[in-house]
Amino acid sequence: MKILVLNSGSSSLKYQLIDTQTEEVVAKGLAECIGVAQRCGQIIQETEFAGKIAFETEMNCHDDAMDRVFALLTDPEKGVVKRVDEIAAIGHRVVHGGEKFVRPTLITDDVLCEVEKVSQLAPLHNPPNLAGIRACMRLMPGIPQVAVFDTAFHATIPDYAYMYALPYDYYTAFGVRRYGFHGTSHQYVAGIALDMLAKEGIAPGSSRIITCHLGNGCSMTAIQGGRAVDTSMGLTPAEGLVMGTRSGDLDPAILVYLARRLDAPASDIDRIINKESGLLGISGLSSDMRDIVDAAAKGNARAELALAVFCYRIRKYVGAYAAAMGGLDAIVFTAGIGENSPIVRERVCRDLGFLGVELDATKNETERGRAINLATPASRVRVLLVPTNEERMIARETARVIAGSAAPSPLVVTP
Ligand code: ADP
Repeated sequence: MKILVLNSGSSSLKYQLIDTQTEEVVAKGLAECIGVAQRCGQIIQETEFAGKIAFETEMNCHDDAMDRVFALLTDPEKGVVKRVDEIAAIGHRVVHGGEKFVRPTLITDDVLCEVEKVSQLAPLHNPPNLAGIRACMRLMPGIPQVAVFDTAFHATIPDYAYMYALPYDYYTAFGVRRYGFHGTSHQYVAGIALDMLAKEGIAPGSSRIITCHLGNGCSMTAIQGGRAVDTSMGLTPAEGLVMGTRSGDLDPAILVYLARRLDAPASDIDRIINKESGLLGISGLSSDMRDIVDAAAKGNARAELALAVFCYRIRKYVGAYAAAMGGLDAIVFTAGIGENSPIVRERVCRDLGFLGVELDATKNETERGRAINLATPASRVRVLLVPTNEERMIARETARVIAGSAAPSPLVVTP
């Protein structure tokens, strides 16, 4: 049985065809520059069977992109799908599920309507997700589709952690509260981390871990007893950690101050905090951590400052979440930066000895690409490197939903 996993962004569509038995990736691809006026679209696909294919093609919308991807997958000569019914189901990443969707959900017309309503909370993210779903319904009618929400894993966060101290009516009328994102990744790496802890005699039910998803977008989640109890992203993915181009935490009055000083509309402020801030904003150089680390090593003061602010913010959250949970068994690093940047891990863990964190410097420098503890044997708190795999998690969840599994997803506890 194969599951097609789709992640439709504003101008891109990533996909993987995954064999559910072996979890092997049968095909993997990316359609880029969808609906971008200045640049021709491009599709890159890799399969073991036909190798790598890359070509340019005009794509005005997600319907066009999905048409091309479907044609590639089912191509009589080079395609990996001989009959459409080989695809048992399609799993879609959907960014925002609001309070309504707390677990992966089989898509029906009613569900689509509800997701559309929630889209007000994620006007940049949910509409392309929905476009991907509609394109699949047209091309592959009758094949079950499942929405896997980025927010769902955080549904167990208690009210005192998700409530903002604003007038309560804004919560009831407009849904203003913390939702959190990257849930699929936090859930996936937490599952592996809890297995690792269980082997050392720490039962999942009594475990306290902090997962750090550090990619272009960055977020941290406090997970106690296998349930998310707090997370750094909020109503939108702009809150919390410093990211490639997003500011993360700010004094809220800065937005008002800037709007007045720049005489700028809300759309300008939105662009500044989401696209022009973070590592890029501080360094003036790049949003890519590799560039920041290289430039800092060469003595670029603003790159060094960006790196310092980035790591310091993570350290603060480690402290906050250890306090929130009343203890800590493991810090888990994942995603592009978390998996590949020894300097970031080292700076986050430095001087956390008082919490019981002691990083093994050699392991931190040399280990890559596999789940492993980077702490010394004497360290009370494990420092786990766990490669994430959101597509695999979406495929697993999709398979569970179409199998009609009544059991709750691992680590997603029904509130
Ligand atoms: P996305 O959030 O788009 O999925 P990724 O998880 O791929 O992003 O993470 C992208 C980030 O990972 C970039 O900032 C990139 O610089 C960083 N990264 C990738 N490889 C390394 C590395 N070897 N050292 C430091 N940072 C890295």
